[in-house]
Amino acid sequence: MTPDRWVDAHSYLRPLADLSAQVDRAAAGIDVLDARIPDWDDYGADFRAGVPLLQSADAAVDLEPGGRMAAALLERLASGTSSGLFAAETRALETELRREPHVSRRIADFLLGDETLAPPFPGLLRYLAWTAMARFLRPVVNGFDGWRDEERWGRRYCPTCGSLPAMAQLVGVDPGRRRLLSCGCCGTRWQFQRTGCPFCETDSQRLASVSIEEEPGLRIDHCESCGGYLKTYDGEGNETLLLSDWSSLHLDLIAHDRGLKRLAASLYEFEPVPHP
Ligand SMILES: [Zn+2]
Ligand SMILES: [Zn+2]
Repeated sequence: MTPDRWVDAHSYLRPLADLSAQVDRAAAGIDVLDARIPDWDDYGADFRAGVPLLQSADAAVDLEPGGRMAAALLERLASGTSSGLFAAETRALETELRREPHVSRRIADFLLGDETLAPPFPGLLRYLAWTAMARFLRPVVNGFDGWRDEERWGRRYCPTCGSLPAMAQLVGVDPGRRRLLSCGCCGTRWQFQRTGCPFCETDSQRLASVSIEEEPGLRIDHCESCGGYLKTYDGEGNETLLLSDWSSLHLDLIAHDRGLKRLAASLYEFEPVPHP
């Protein structure tokens, strides 16, 4: 399934698909700065204690160059000629941040939860800056995937950046079938227990699933204790599209109609909108 065919079949996703493609194109034009791969031995104790990699003083991953890439992405998008709300908000954001001393450092801190930066359109900054930062972090995330012992993490938050998952994925076949949680920010996927709820961590017997007839590869898993749901991609090979979150906005609408709560992290500010 290509993004084009997907959007042809779900025409109400067109505006989000176009926006996402525009941002990805701009991001692809930004030079990727080098990220230092941490010494994994230094990080081992924090890992076992549940400290995400980017929050570990021992791992000391420097995000400042990623912040520089984010600022460059903003500048590129703001200098374009396109009109509309997205362009206007991006320009306002860029103008405001340009006044900020050490803007690259501030953006990096903002992504890890520092609230002293109060930009206009914080959701937009989070989305754009994570898009750039994820590109910067790719070698670190890949190295971390190779080093990490999945059995020893098992936590509900991202081992790299600490965010809650945006989605889940089921991979493999029984008895080796595994459930991964997928971070919408830094792009890490990590293993989690098959049936537990990542939001309230209550008893694993109370998880239910809604299959979508027209979407055999996607389903909504929800918890009967807390009412939280997690969109799940049941399959492999189409991660970029099907774990992108925006590509399954219609599942958020179905979940919302059933009274379920989106507790998953999101870089998209989903509003319950009328049905297509
Ligand atoms: Zn993450
Ligand atoms: Zn729950």
